[in-house]
Amino acid sequence: MKYRNFGSTGFNVSALGLGCMRLPTQRFRIQKINVPKAVELIRASVDKGINYMDTGLPYHLGESERVLGQALAGGYREKVHLVTKLPMFLVNRESDFDKYLDRQLSKLKTDYLDTYLFHALNRGGFEKLKKFNMIEKMLAAQKAGRIKYIGFSFHDTLPVFREIVDYFSWDVVQIQYNYMDTGAQATTEGLEYAAGKGMAVVIMEPLKGGMLANPPAEALSVLEKSDIKRSPVDWALQYLWNRPEVSVVISGMGNMRMLTENCESADRSGVGILTGDELGTINELIEIYRKNIIVPCTACQYCMPCSYGVNIPQNFAYLNNMASRNAFFHNVPIRWNFRKLVRSTKKLNAEKTNGNAVLCTECGVCVKKCPQFINIPEELKKVNAAAGREKKEVQQS
Ligand code: SF4
Ligand code: SF4
Repeated sequence: MKYRNFGSTGFNVSALGLGCMRLPTQRFRIQKINVPKAVELIRASVDKGINYMDTGLPYHLGESERVLGQALAGGYREKVHLVTKLPMFLVNRESDFDKYLDRQLSKLKTDYLDTYLFHALNRGGFEKLKKFNMIEKMLAAQKAGRIKYIGFSFHDTLPVFREIVDYFSWDVVQIQYNYMDTGAQATTEGLEYAAGKGMAVVIMEPLKGGMLANPPAEALSVLEKSDIKRSPVDWALQYLWNRPEVSVVISGMGNMRMLTENCESADRSGVGILTGDELGTINELIEIYRKNIIVPCTACQYCMPCSYGVNIPQNFAYLNNMASRNAFFHNVPIRWNFRKLVRSTKKLNAEKTNGNAVLCTECGVCVKKCPQFINIPEELKKVNAAAGREKKEVQQS
């Protein structure tokens, strides 16, 4: 494993971190953690040299923190930099800070967090942070030894990002960044700005919710022609580690194969190692993806559960897969799987999460929760138009 500076903290962080938003799950139960497999994977990642563990209260319907705490018992806790996040979307008064921190420490079976982040700050979350004196609460928790480093994760635009960065002397920031998102959210300018202030920059969504692991056919042929042989995942990860501003790239690795491959990628990583030709190949991939992505969903699940049972990210994955394959015989199985998503509320399973786009009532509840600002009900109509029984042409938004 390669290690990098964690901003100006003096801590050496592994180039690859484990994101516990996408732990191994039970078959046909998309959010339910397969606990034995998850514990095995978490411990194996520490054994392979990963020392950065990221989780959050809502991940896996609140179970991610509990399972991570279970996996880190028995001597693993001391080997890692443990990170979770204050759920700003649930904070409505000053006392909520201690309420959630107490619960999270208890679930994680620890007395302290190495880093505590304000979760998914945007303009609204930032106003709440100021209104409820959250910085003062963070500093008090730090003084009490319950938190070492203070930071925030971010989902909004560059001007908001700069404003938040300038508001406090943060230790850490977590941003969405990958070769498709250099101009979105915090952007490359924000990445450089935060790193220039000595903050540790943690990268989330390095594969854009898995999208960059499954390139369209046209992109695959570009990779086949390249002299450098790499998997699509390796191309995406090396792009990030090539940048000096990046401290750690967190990846949600759902099985041991992904863990092994990503650790091997991290072993080969380094700042400035990509050649001009390699960066040119990535530029070609960017152009191809731009033509093919219909909905920029990262499968983060923040919009879930939908009260009407729509499996929002799965519906969008089918739409994007159809667009990127762009061939009738490839799209037949995708359309077939789409139609297997439950189309009647009576038939939804216990978790009520495997519903088809047709179940959307356009209530709009999910829209406020989406960090990618996707107009979910409108995009779901496109899914049904493209993959449902009514076949209509889909326009890219
Ligand atoms: S708008 Fe549609 S998908 Fe979103 S929560 Fe309402 S019913 Fe579910
Ligand atoms: S629609 Fe938005 S909130 Fe829902 S999974 Fe996709 S990116 Fe996440």
